Amino acid sequence: MAHPLTVRVHPLDNVAIAVSPDGLASGTVLPEGVTLREAVPQAHKVALQTLPEGAPILRYGQVIGHAAREILAGSWVREDVIRMPAAPELAHLSLATAVPVDAPPLEGFTFEGYRNADGSVGTKNVLGITTTVQCVAATVDYAVARIRAELLPRYPNVDDVVSLTHTYGCGVAIDAPDAAVPIRTLGHISRHANLGGDPLVVSLGCEKMQPSRLFPLFESAPPEVVRLQDHAGFGEIIARIMESAERRLEVLNQRRRVTCPASDLVVGLQCGGSDAFSGVTCNPAVGAMADLLVRAGATVMFSEVTEVRDAVHLLTPRCATEEIGRDLVREMQWYDDYLARGRADRSANPTPGNKRGGLANVVEKALGSIAKAGSSALRGVATHGEKVTRKGLIFAATPASDFICGTQQLASMNLHVFTTGEGTPYGLALVPVVKVSSRTSLAEKWHDLIDLDAGRIATGEATIDEVGWELFRLLLDVASGRKKTWADHWRLYNALAPFNPGPVT
Ligand code: CA
Repeated sequence: MAHPLTVRVHPLDNVAIAVSPDGLASGTVLPEGVTLREAVPQAHKVALQTLPEGAPILRYGQVIGHAAREILAGSWVREDVIRMPAAPELAHLSLATAVPVDAPPLEGFTFEGYRNADGSVGTKNVLGITTTVQCVAATVDYAVARIRAELLPRYPNVDDVVSLTHTYGCGVAIDAPDAAVPIRTLGHISRHANLGGDPLVVSLGCEKMQPSRLFPLFESAPPEVVRLQDHAGFGEIIARIMESAERRLEVLNQRRRVTCPASDLVVGLQCGGSDAFSGVTCNPAVGAMADLLVRAGATVMFSEVTEVRDAVHLLTPRCATEEIGRDLVREMQWYDDYLARGRADRSANPTPGNKRGGLANVVEKALGSIAKAGSSALRGVATHGEKVTRKGLIFAATPASDFICGTQQLASMNLHVFTTGEGTPYGLALVPVVKVSSRTSLAEKWHDLIDLDAGRIATGEATIDEVGWELFRLLLDVASGRKKTWADHWRLYNALAPFNPGPVT
C-alpha cells in the first residue's frame, strides 16, 4: 500500500507535514504538484506555495505565524522563518457563542471499579502513605519497602502500597495566598478514590504544613497520623507506621470490584514530548475518545494552560455558558500574570525536543494540543489543584510540565491518558497511565512502553474515529484491571510534583 508523503490538516493550510519516517528528499514531487527544494525531515513542514514576507502561515486552518522572509514553494518551513503572532487578547474573546449541541448519549458501557462511600470509584486498590513534608520521605520509603515485602503478600486484594512523598511542606511561605495551590492538591490526593478515600498520614512534627492544614475539611473522623517526633528511635517509628499500615490493609483488603457505569470515570488528558504529528494523530484520536466519554456521561479533563493559551479563542465560544467562558479567561489571565512575574519569554515552550519534532512555536503546539479536547461543549473550569466534581468536558488549569500537570490532575482523575511524539516513559503510581504515540516509528521503537499507536492515522491505516473507539474500549479494560499499562507493568512511577507558585523561605 502506498503511504501518503504528507498530511495537510485543513483545506486552507499552506503548509503540509512530511509523513515518511526518513523524511522527504530534495526533488520529491508532492501530490499538490510542488517539488521539494530541499530535504524535509519527518514531521516538519513544507511550503505548498510561495509565501511572501509577512504572509500568514496556516496550519489547522489557523495562523501559526507570519513569514519572516519570502518562503519559496517546496521549502522547509523552519522555526527561524516564522514570526510568532501575539497571543489572543483576553479582553476581546467571544464567550459561549458557538456551544456545540449534545451528541446522543452512549448507554451500556461499564467497567469494574472499587466504589467508595462518597460515591467516587477507584480503578486500583492501593494503600497510600501521605506525607506532610519532605523530611519524612526517606523514612516512609523505607517503611513502604518493608510493608511491600512483609505485609502486602497477606492482603491479596490490595494492588500496591505507595509513598506519596513530595518536596513541599516546610521552608515555604505557608500563609501566602498561592500556598493554597499545593496544599489543596496534596489534600485531595491524600483522599484519592484509589486509596479508598481514607488516608494514612506520616508527619514529622515541627513542619509548617501540619496535618490539620492538609485536612481542614475533615468533618468527623480525623485521619490516622504517625508523628515521627513522638517516637523513640527509628525502630519504634517504623513499627508504628507498619502497625497503622496493617490496619489500613485490613480495610482495603475487603474492597471488591463492582460493575460501574462508564460515567464514573474521571479521565485526565495530557501530552508530553509532543511533535508535529501529535496534532494530526494521537491528539485528535484522544479528542474522539473524549467525545465518547462525554457521551457516556464521564468527566474528561484537559489542562496545560500554556498549551491552551494561544488557542483559547477557539475554546471560549464552546463554553456552555458565559460564566464558564469568564472562568476560562480568568485562568489564562492568572497564568499570564504568573509568567510575567518570572519574566518567562514566549519561546520557553516548546522544548528543543518539540522543535526537533517539527513544532515551530507554542501557537502551533497549542493548536495541536487542544485537539485532545474533542468537540463537545466545555462544561466547567477548575482552578489549580481543585477537585472536579462535574461531568462532561472540563478545563482543569495546570502548568504544562508533565509531572506537575499529572500531580494536579490526581486531585480528581482515576485514569490518565498521555500522548507523546518524542516519547517519555512517564507513569504515576496512583492511577493507570495509558500512553499513546503520535507516530508508528515510536510505537515500534518503544514497543514495551507505548500502549497504543495512533501513528496509523497518518499512514492511512486507521481513521481518527477508529482509534478513538479503540482507546475508549482500552480505557474500560484498564480501569477494570483486565489490562495493565506498560507503566504499571514496569512500575514506572514519577514522583509527585505539586505546583508551588508561592515563595520559598
Ligand atoms: Ca505536558
